[in-house]
Amino acid sequence: MKLDVNSLRYLSKDDFRVLTAVEMGSKNHEIVPVELIDSISGLKHGGSHKCIKTLLRYKLVHHDNARYDGYRLTSMGYDYLAIRALCSRGQISSVGRQIGVGKESDIFEVANDDGEIFVLKLHRLGRTSFRAVKDKRDYLGKRKNYSWLYLSRLAAIKEYAFMKCLYEHGFPVPQAIDQNRHAVLMTLVDGKPLVQVKRIENSRLVYESCMDLISRLASKGLIHCDFNEFNLLINDDNEVTLIDFPQMVSVAHLNAEELFDRDVNCIIRFFSKKIGYVPEQDPDLSAIRPAFTNIIKDIDEQLDVQLVASGYKKDAKDMKDLEAFVLNGESEDEDEEEEEEEEKEEEE
Ligand code: ADP
Ligand code: MG
Repeated sequence: MKLDVNSLRYLSKDDFRVLTAVEMGSKNHEIVPVELIDSISGLKHGGSHKCIKTLLRYKLVHHDNARYDGYRLTSMGYDYLAIRALCSRGQISSVGRQIGVGKESDIFEVANDDGEIFVLKLHRLGRTSFRAVKDKRDYLGKRKNYSWLYLSRLAAIKEYAFMKCLYEHGFPVPQAIDQNRHAVLMTLVDGKPLVQVKRIENSRLVYESCMDLISRLASKGLIHCDFNEFNLLINDDNEVTLIDFPQMVSVAHLNAEELFDRDVNCIIRFFSKKIGYVPEQDPDLSAIRPAFTNIIKDIDEQLDVQLVASGYKKDAKDMKDLEAFVLNGESEDEDEEEEEEEEKEEEE
């Protein structure tokens, strides 16, 4: 779905009040009954009706009267709430072009009042793996009704916490600026995804810096778990920046070694197949691959432990839900079709 934020400025305070009421009602209702919207928004009788009409026109809510008369938030409705919050905090003042469509997110260029450009990542968990969300619903128990809101928000909370921590510890990652709902605001990285690169001037150096990054993360207790050419940005000076953190795990994870090796193998495969640099055939390479067991023998700082002990902790239990989802939620064509149908419905 296209994100058209122009209508943001046409929405009144009451419109947002009603939109927020729908969001709050979603905690317990898949479809929020009109009476509940009325009572949460606290607008005088019929007051919310006019607002709902506006919200419907801008596709911020979706009407459903299959079982009773009610509404649910669309992903654009959720986007608006997050963007408005970031605007009122003074972090951003306009939303520009979309610069990326990730596996489970939409990425926009945004600007603040001073014209500084940032990146806004809107998480959309459950878009590419709709089935996975459904499979997880039982597990999510009472909260099943708002699983996409719930999971996308968790992903943003986690990503923000990890990005901030990694940046503060000198890792080449974007600087995390702010977070609200399913949105993460961060600095814009100068560079393009490695996947778009056909030739690298000094491929051994870049290869080594990737392996060094994987090793350094592990030596601080962390595994990225999606360390590949899509999540590494490279600039003209061949410097790499790592992005995309919702799936990171601790080296204490049950499958830590396997996840670590998977990250390593992704990079080896990419360099061998796409760049034409085969690490195994380079005699000048000091080590082809880092060994997990060696690295974790002398962990110097446990960022995994620090992160759990930080503000991120209050959501730690919920994060198990997120982990269950992001580490298993592989996409299948069938699921995408299903989700497309959903979106079409939403647009109608
Ligand atoms: P997903 O979790 O959906 O894979 P990513 O965080 O990997 O999302 O971002 C998707 C794409 O958006 C990236 O491949 C990159 O092209 C672009 N992107 C994301 N964050 C930034 C950033 N901070 N600076 C520049 N480009 C970015
Ligand atoms: Mg990515």
